[in-house]
Amino acid sequence: MSILIYAYQYGEKFPKPVLELASYASALAEQTGGTVTAIVTGNPRESDLEMLGQYGVSKIWVTPEPAGPSFDNRAYAALLASAAEGCGASFVLLADNAISRAVAPRMAVRLKAGYISGVAGLPLHMDPFTVKRSVFTGKASAYAEILTPVKVLILARNTWQTIENPVTCLIEKFTPAVSLPAPDFEVVKVMEQTGTIRLQDAEVVVSGGRGMKSADNWKLLEDLAGALGAALACSRPVTDEGWRPHQEHVGQTGKVIAPNLYIACGISGAIQHIGGISSSRVIIAINKDPEAPIFQFARFGIIGDLFQVLPALTQAVKKLKSE
Ligand SMILES: Cc1cc2nc3c(=O)[nH]c(=O)nc-3n(C[C@H](O)[C@H](O)[C@H](O)COP(=O)(O)OP(=O)(O)OC[C@H]3O[C@@H](n4cnc5c(N)ncnc54)[C@H](O)[C@@H]3O)c2cc1C
Repeated sequence: MSILIYAYQYGEKFPKPVLELASYASALAEQTGGTVTAIVTGNPRESDLEMLGQYGVSKIWVTPEPAGPSFDNRAYAALLASAAEGCGASFVLLADNAISRAVAPRMAVRLKAGYISGVAGLPLHMDPFTVKRSVFTGKASAYAEILTPVKVLILARNTWQTIENPVTCLIEKFTPAVSLPAPDFEVVKVMEQTGTIRLQDAEVVVSGGRGMKSADNWKLLEDLAGALGAALACSRPVTDEGWRPHQEHVGQTGKVIAPNLYIACGISGAIQHIGGISSSRVIIAINKDPEAPIFQFARFGIIGDLFQVLPALTQAVKKLKSE
């Protein structure tokens, strides 16, 4: 069975969710006896493309950005549907992000395909096709079936490891068989975050809450983040207070992230905050209140005053890295 994945790049690199997706697709190909094709848009470097071959992708189709700077989801949906038809894909797989969630259902309509988001493992059965999906921000699981021949799936983040499986990889140009819809809006300005690690792609995130007491104390978090090579995040009251910019706010009304390690400092663990971080692989909480709800979600906890814990932790990380 043919499997198509959408391999997006960020800053000329394939981010971790794409490598997880390729690894998952490779395992699915093994289960179904299929092959994996990746579609890549833009002008990728050949050395970066070859990396996909390390994760089981045997063919790569490169095609120009479908919508220029407009990020028009309709154009991506038409492009991916055309690629899926072009390679006779039974499965079209996307990594979980805002663009995928907008593109996947539109593409599924074009392909007359069933669509499942939050996929949390390989299919349990192929007939009928059944997968486990993660629901309610990871607090529960559901089992979903797709009865159509073509299936569109979004893989939940951090449910699959990156697993190397080198194969010979053919790189070809791809031209969609349909004309892509022209955007009916204009993007006036794109502001890119620079100088810091992008929160959504960060493997390690250091996050502060109201327990940090004031904006001036963020130096403690910046020092720890610097030592760990981590991105910074915060709870909503922190941005409401104007201590940190809105792009760092995580939770139900902020960004949803899934790093390998999330360090919550002076954050109580309200359910609206947990909604944005529950897919993190490991959560460490630093809080002076042993009853704080965050400890129910944390793998490791430090009960103590963060103003003492943070400098000691930063020093310990620096020492460990210098050894
Ligand atoms: C509709 C809605 C949407 C929301 N969306 C979001 C969202 O997206 N993201 C979000 O974060 N919140 C959101 N909230 C707010 C959420 O309900 C909580 O109010 C918020 O998450 C609490 O932030 P906090 O943990 O930083 O502060 P607090 O709840 O005030 O917790 C501060 C913590 O710091 C600890 N602390 C204090 N001093 C120290 C110290 N010296 N050392 C160690 N620990 C210390 C305290 O013990 C406490 O646990 C939303 C609320 C609503 C109603």
